[in-house]
Amino acid sequence: MPPQTRGAFLMGMIAEVIVDIAHSDVDKIFDYACDFEIAAGTRVAVPFGFGKGTTTGFVIRVKSSTDIAPEKLKKISRAEEDYPALTAESLSLARKISARYRVPLALSLRLFLPAEMRTGKVGEAYKEYARLAGDPAEIPARARAQRALADHLAERGEEEVTALRKQFGAAVNALQERGLLVLEKKRKMRDPYGGAAGKGQAHALTPAQREAVRRISKTDKTVSLLFGVTGSGKTEVYLDLIAAALERGKTALFLVPEISLTPQMLFRLRSRFQSAVAILHSGLSAGERFDEWQRLRTGEARIAVGARSAVFAPVENVGLIVIDEEHDGSYSSESSPRYNTFDIALLRAKYNGCKLVLGSATPAVETYRRAKEGEFELATLPERINARPMPEVRIVDMRREVRRGNPSPFSALLKEKLEACLSGGNQAILFLNRRGYSQTVICRDCGNVLKCEHCDVALTYHSEEDRLKCHYCGACYRMPKACPACGSTHIRYVGTGTQRVVSELKTLYPEARILRMDVDTTGGKEGHYKILKQFASRQADILVGTQMVAKGHDFPAVTLVGILDADMGLYFPDYRSGERTFQLVTQVAGRCGRAEDKGEAVLQTYSPENAILRFAAQYDYEGFYEHEIAMRAATMFPPFAKIVRVMVTGEDERETLDALKEIYGALTQIYNADADKFLFFNRMHAPVKRIQNKFRYQVLMRLLEGGPLKEIYGAVAALKHKNVLCYVEENPSNLS
Ligand code: ADP
Ligand code: ZN
Ligand code: ZN
Repeated sequence: MPPQTRGAFLMGMIAEVIVDIAHSDVDKIFDYACDFEIAAGTRVAVPFGFGKGTTTGFVIRVKSSTDIAPEKLKKISRAEEDYPALTAESLSLARKISARYRVPLALSLRLFLPAEMRTGKVGEAYKEYARLAGDPAEIPARARAQRALADHLAERGEEEVTALRKQFGAAVNALQERGLLVLEKKRKMRDPYGGAAGKGQAHALTPAQREAVRRISKTDKTVSLLFGVTGSGKTEVYLDLIAAALERGKTALFLVPEISLTPQMLFRLRSRFQSAVAILHSGLSAGERFDEWQRLRTGEARIAVGARSAVFAPVENVGLIVIDEEHDGSYSSESSPRYNTFDIALLRAKYNGCKLVLGSATPAVETYRRAKEGEFELATLPERINARPMPEVRIVDMRREVRRGNPSPFSALLKEKLEACLSGGNQAILFLNRRGYSQTVICRDCGNVLKCEHCDVALTYHSEEDRLKCHYCGACYRMPKACPACGSTHIRYVGTGTQRVVSELKTLYPEARILRMDVDTTGGKEGHYKILKQFASRQADILVGTQMVAKGHDFPAVTLVGILDADMGLYFPDYRSGERTFQLVTQVAGRCGRAEDKGEAVLQTYSPENAILRFAAQYDYEGFYEHEIAMRAATMFPPFAKIVRVMVTGEDERETLDALKEIYGALTQIYNADADKFLFFNRMHAPVKRIQNKFRYQVLMRLLEGGPLKEIYGAVAALKHKNVLCYVEENPSNLS
């Protein structure tokens, strides 16, 4: 609207600002005057509310007029950075995300910034550097240290002052007093992994890889699925596609489930693209993450690598997006907004007009169906590089072991193979799903299971600390002498965890060097990386671990993989449990036999006749897929319907129940208006009734295509209960 028509005021520059407060009451645009040059995307400090202080905000648009009267119009106090932290694409995407998941715009905008930048706790790091000025010939011959320092600098050009002081001590000050030294503060970039880089070269692609690259590049479909068995050379295909994108002057996003679990991936990227690669992940220090983010923002780095949050990397002009191991559960966010990485990646691919490549050896059933039906391009790599065979998988019936009187977590076959592996000088990986020593502690007399006081969850015994731990909230308890319910002293452990496996291995093979990898041993910065490095450099013979060991490592000396409890995942009340088990078995087995020596896998189970395990042992993805998709169709589970869960959680049970009642009422109206789109609609306790003192209730729904998802989000967004959290989950990967 032209400024004259409604008595609006021409004020020079007006900025539309979203304040960085994630609350629906302030989720609107505020106009501010600005008496300096400012661009959309800049973070600013603005006076807000009645107090004197300022609040951070984001300029989302710059314009020349406003309807607000001049005496009411406040002024932007300052810009937080001298560049727009948010790109034009981020601003556009954030609006879409807010509309899709019904969250305040401030919350969506935050996704695009390093958390530490917002809280102002981190910034650029500066260090003092020294270089020579003037003529060093002025230094008298007797001042040896000063001469040495001058020579050193003449050779090096410049160096950090702290390092010089360490080496030359007082000579630094002396030289400065002579006016022969210039000190200057300069930006120092923090470099995660100390710039570690391999010296790998690009392989000449195999015909199958070339065909995959050709298909993905030529298709006019936005999304391609690269379906290739473990070790078939998928990564090499991604690298080629990335190189091509860079050649076209574009940038790339490379998403992996957990970069700290796959340092090898990082080395391969670094050795091919050097400093053009920037990593974003939670294991970095705040400073490192900020610097990496900024290198991407300025365009100095052009490839962003990282876990799910790297999908928000601030690169412009994206030419390719890769989601490796696309089936992985970590691609769904577990905090608000509960986005799915694929959905965001697809938005970015469309915005930039580029390709999105999904890669996996075990694609999610939903993904594979879309590829089979022609929505996604399908490129396959059916064989391992050099036609190395997939490791043979032997299924062991653990019921028979028990009948034979073998109470240990290892079957006779596994022990035999393990001995052969160790005496042959090779390495083995043992996988099981449970950390700790044993799963639960149970009273033999009354059957009481020891539970956490804050969560409705059984505790796990950890022998190293001789403590019981809650795996949901981390609470730690002393092992009681008697059952808290009946006083009996017959308390015993049931189930096996990683700690117990390690201690049994130590008894069986006192000579063997054993490493354990699970949540308890990988704490701290680069915790995973350290363990993997030790194992890769052959400082251990056996690696025992949880899911973490299943991810894409490549250890040439591993010839044996043992899956100790293949059933664990099968009986979870989750429609994806079969799929998860198939993926896990395939991935774990794929860890071995990657070099010259043939690999073998031993799969221990109490249900050896289970169809999913049989398909997995044969690497028969097609067979598994046909079996699984038929079952999903018959039971109307995803992809034939969508599971929608509305969670209601709060510390006060009364208030939580009130909120539940209210949301249930609103949802019932939606249900009544559209009942034929619902396959299921019910409210209930969540399977885990309490976590960290919060009561948990849910409304569970199953919706047909075209169901009222938007309305459900709307009802949840409209709920106003201060101390109760309410949110929507779509096809949640964890239904606990
Ligand atoms: P995936 O990602 O499918 O598991 P990778 O790309 O990691 O497979 O390849 C498996 C192994 O084969 C790696 O050690 C890799 O260096 C090697 N490799 C990949 N492509 C080629 C090729 N064209 N020629 C030779 N070796 C290759
Ligand atoms: Zn707990
Ligand atoms: Zn008891």
